[in-house]
Amino acid sequence: MKTIGLLGGMSWESTASYYSALNQGIKNALGGLHSAKINMVSVDFAEIEQLQHAGDWQATAEILSQAALSVEASGADGLLICTNTMHKVADKIQAAIHIPVLHIADATGQLLQANGITKVGLLGTRFTMAEDFYKVRLTDQFAMQVMVPNESQQAIIHHVIYDELCRGEIRSVSRQQYLEIIDDLHQQGAQAVILGCTEIALLVKQTDTNVPLYDTTSIHAQRAVQWMLS
Ligand code: GLU
Repeated sequence: MKTIGLLGGMSWESTASYYSALNQGIKNALGGLHSAKINMVSVDFAEIEQLQHAGDWQATAEILSQAALSVEASGADGLLICTNTMHKVADKIQAAIHIPVLHIADATGQLLQANGITKVGLLGTRFTMAEDFYKVRLTDQFAMQVMVPNESQQAIIHHVIYDELCRGEIRSVSRQQYLEIIDDLHQQGAQAVILGCTEIALLVKQTDTNVPLYDTTSIHAQRAVQWMLS
């Protein structure tokens, strides 16, 4: 089994989901007492969040590149950046290290493509929904047509991520708002919706809606398990 490296803490609420999903995946594959070989560096999300909202992505790239170097030095064979948003600086992190970054949008695009999805809705932070770094990767590499919520809906999604989910607060009012936005995207033609923020699955589950959901945390972890065992 290869050792997977994690850049965690963004937020730790979702890093806990990664830890669980990776171990569950290895247990399902190998049985018995097997568990995942994981080396993690977990950052202070308050620092990262301030820099994000100040637009200082260069500084976030430097912090995460340093963290990635520590993960590499610990002996990890590959790296998961445990957040969709921070894939905005994935190329810079990859340039700082020699082990491969397993990209969250690639794992998601591959699964969507394998399932015959061509038109997909995307929920995430405002950075992920409004900027190009994530959408263009899905469009260029997986021929996806990516639809995002309107501006006021994006504001709701973004606010709930930072002010509730990343703080461990799960509110049914917010779940209802998310489900309405998911329905809206479906009505507009999305065949499925990407939960493109690693905390969203803490709020919305597949059992809450008939619209197919693609949870990036689970997809990213499953992809890593396959890779670790390959
Ligand atoms: N975990 C979230 C994501 O997947 C948001 C937190 C962050 O900005 O990293 O995008």
